[in-house]
Amino acid sequence: MPWLHDSRALARFRRALLAWYGRNARDLPWRRTTDPYAILVSEVLLQQTRVEQALGYYARFIEAFPDFASLARAPEEDVLRVWAGAGYYRRARNLHRLAQVVAEKGLPRSYEGLLRLPGIGPYTAAAVSSIAFGEPAAVVDGNVRRVLARLLAQADPKPGWLRETAQRLLSPEDPGRWNQAVMELGSLVCTPKVPTCGRCPVASFCAGRDDPESYPLPRKRAQRPVSAVALVLRGSKGYVLERRDGQALSGLWGFPFVEGEDGLRSLLDRYGVPRAEPLGTVEHAFTHKQLTIAVYEACWRGRGEDPSRRPLSALDRKILALARRAIGQDQGQRGVFGPDGA
Ligand code: SF4
Repeated sequence: MPWLHDSRALARFRRALLAWYGRNARDLPWRRTTDPYAILVSEVLLQQTRVEQALGYYARFIEAFPDFASLARAPEEDVLRVWAGAGYYRRARNLHRLAQVVAEKGLPRSYEGLLRLPGIGPYTAAAVSSIAFGEPAAVVDGNVRRVLARLLAQADPKPGWLRETAQRLLSPEDPGRWNQAVMELGSLVCTPKVPTCGRCPVASFCAGRDDPESYPLPRKRAQRPVSAVALVLRGSKGYVLERRDGQALSGLWGFPFVEGEDGLRSLLDRYGVPRAEPLGTVEHAFTHKQLTIAVYEACWRGRGEDPSRRPLSALDRKILALARRAIGQDQGQRGVFGPDGA
């Protein structure tokens, strides 16, 4: 693309996009601060959460843990409870570990230094170092990938090409604002479906504008279907909950659960319960698998516990909602205890 190697054309391109960003940028709380902690929390949240949803989680998290020191001091269970609902809990655990490292050794101000912190990858290191410290480090996320692929008509942009091209386009005078401008263009104008090229500030530079949805080609991600069984054991004051382990849900709590269609027997044996009644099924997708969970319910001779006092995974909140609906409908007829001792 000739303009990419022409410094005056490149300057025009940057001016057009930054001027558009100045007029159209959404007013978001993490854009009103240069506090690296707040920027880091927002960037970690936004990796897998849409902006509209992230707003509430961000406000809650910053209120509970306003800085690295308060986050470092908090027990992991409190951190997970405040994060609850935002999903991908590994992000919260990594933030917690990172805060402990920063509380001890201080926060590095460079891209390379940030990259050495636990849970920080190239995207987050570039975002925080450019926005908070003005380092000329270009971000590459899904939005940037799409915008660049279309601008330069690349159907299958490779990671090395993306990094190099994003770095070439980056405005050296204002790298933090530039990075946000490219991502904002991808969020508001150069959207995955039906991009509004007629409103695009850089349409005259774009090689893909005649057929934007052909760039880039979709990436295939296989999700393996997996069956599982969950057991809702109702005690006098709540439910039986277990602490989860495994990479994705470690540190969270949930209902007794096993993968495999025939797992009910092993769950009943584990708790010495003779039988359980089916409540329904719950669907839940992880990155690489699509779970279909058959949920069963039985009475428990103990007290159980109040689920609102534990950090529950999104999957377990779905199970809880199903149980409350089913048990609520049945409660009048059977006179059973509800959750939370109700
Ligand atoms: Fe995206 Fe269309 Fe703008 Fe090209 S002209 S960058 S395809 S919105």
